[in-house]
Amino acid sequence: MEINLVSDTVTRPTPDMLQAMFRAKVGDDVYKQDPTVNELEARVASIFGMEAALFFPSGTMANQAAIKLLTQPGDELIADKYAHVFNYEAGGVAFNSGVSCRLVDGHRGMITAEQVREAINPPDFYHSPFTRLVCVENTTNKGGGACYDMQELARIRQVCDEHQLKFHLDGARLWNALVVKRDNPKTYGTLFDTISVCLSKGLGAPVGSLLVSDAETIQRALRIRKVLGGGMRQVGYLAAAGLYALDHHVARLAEDHRRAREIATLLGTVDWVGKVEPVETNIVIFSLANGLDEAKFLQLLKERNIHISSLGKGKLRIVTHLDYKQVMHDYVLETFKRISIRSNPA
Ligand SMILES: *Cc1c(COP(=O)(O)O)cnc(C)c1O
Repeated sequence: MEINLVSDTVTRPTPDMLQAMFRAKVGDDVYKQDPTVNELEARVASIFGMEAALFFPSGTMANQAAIKLLTQPGDELIADKYAHVFNYEAGGVAFNSGVSCRLVDGHRGMITAEQVREAINPPDFYHSPFTRLVCVENTTNKGGGACYDMQELARIRQVCDEHQLKFHLDGARLWNALVVKRDNPKTYGTLFDTISVCLSKGLGAPVGSLLVSDAETIQRALRIRKVLGGGMRQVGYLAAAGLYALDHHVARLAEDHRRAREIATLLGTVDWVGKVEPVETNIVIFSLANGLDEAKFLQLLKERNIHISSLGKGKLRIVTHLDYKQVMHDYVLETFKRISIRSNPA
């Protein structure tokens, strides 16, 4: 039994999801003639009460398309220092859009309306780039799965309105936030210009993200997706997995959250752990006690068939997901209880 807690992207389609994929009616989606993709796009748009959505092969491409849609070369966007769009999209903000990032020192990957206001360049000061866009992430990835309060997002929207800024939500794990906070997704639709959501993280689909917005923006997004090479043909087989996941895999995210909490609680009691960050969703970030060797620890876990990842700077990450079952969870808790590691003699 190999237990992979490296990411919630490691899941494989369930037998029922595969059946749904086999049965999909498909067409050429580049001509918008794939009925299953069209159904998925309409469904996701309606979840957020927005006009339209567009299927993308990855969350990165959906975010990059949004940034391209909402900026001009030379502009600046505001994001937290941990933002996926800055750290993990291979410099795409600069490569695709010619845009720079003004990074804000937020809390667990989340920024405040006040921080946004302070980061805006004065538009008449022609030495600095135009601030044009604010990007937030919910839940935060590098921030440890933290979730925004809706009020703070509404306050940021207000700052955006006062300064003619666009507002993009990187919602790769928005489903997790919705399950925990029980917010109405339609409220998100009213606050943001564009929202990206992933089907291949917590929801367990093999591929797929969507960008949601108004009809005119999504019409323009078609061209951006094409130029990025993201126009695909009989992609309804993948959209069918997404529709299946929306029907069957959203509410169960609560299980992932419970298991993450139980892991964090246990880590808080063992002597080989330094700090455990608060857990709100399915991500646990922790550090080892002083003097313990991270590489050795990861190896020790590997020998026990448990795989987790390092975020660097002494932070380790565990992510729970659809394929992390209760038997595995029991084994992981038991293993963590029994582990004993010592620092190297000085
Ligand atoms: C995973 C992720 C993405 C997109 O990732 P892809 O691997 O390109 O689908 C975007 N934002 C956040 C916060 C993520 O965690």
